[in-house]
Amino acid sequence: MKIVLATGNKGKLREFKQMCEDELVPFSDLLDEFEIVEDGDTFAANALIKARTVYEKLGEEYLVIADDSGISLPILDGAPGIYSARYAGVAVTDKDNLYKLIEAVKEKGLKSTAAYYTAAIAIVSKYGEYVVHGWMHGEVIDEARGNKGFGYDPMFIPAGYDLTLGELDDDVKSAISHRGKALDLAKPIIRMLKNK
Ligand code: IMP
Repeated sequence: MKIVLATGNKGKLREFKQMCEDELVPFSDLLDEFEIVEDGDTFAANALIKARTVYEKLGEEYLVIADDSGISLPILDGAPGIYSARYAGVAVTDKDNLYKLIEAVKEKGLKSTAAYYTAAIAIVSKYGEYVVHGWMHGEVIDEARGNKGFGYDPMFIPAGYDLTLGELDDDVKSAISHRGKALDLAKPIIRMLKNK
């Protein structure tokens, strides 16, 4: 069974490859470009939509993994949450979203505030569907620092650290990240399905 990753996000792909000993093929290597409408109202629902859509196109030989993730601020009632990729609008860059969130923190008159990342990983194969979650808690600040990671990382300081994920090394992030924690739960499921 070939393991396919249903993401076009380069930052996510890099992190999955770094954290996973299995060979992961991005779906864009196997299929022509097409749009996946992520209209679920939870991270889990959207991860399942992505994994199912790619699995249906590829067929039973494949095990498809998809991640849906984002950042949530309690001070903003959980926003941007599932809308993290589209926070500044459609067809925007990660930088547009990052600076919009920095502005939102500033508008509240804050230098920093609590935040957390969520990742839902869906696994779809002929043996059924699974979803696991991981979280990383910390705070966001009113500026961008460092250029490692991707997305909102330059403004996010994980709990227990003084530096942002833009400043910390990739392997530090992998060890504590929402995606890393969800993947730790996904790995035994993937192993079990591969050995059936
Ligand atoms: P998705 O591809 O629909 O799951 O959107 C995820 C969005 O959430 C990304 O575009 C980023 O803006 C944000 N995001 C998710 N995980 C991370 C992360 O590990 N670091 C920074 N931003 C993230």
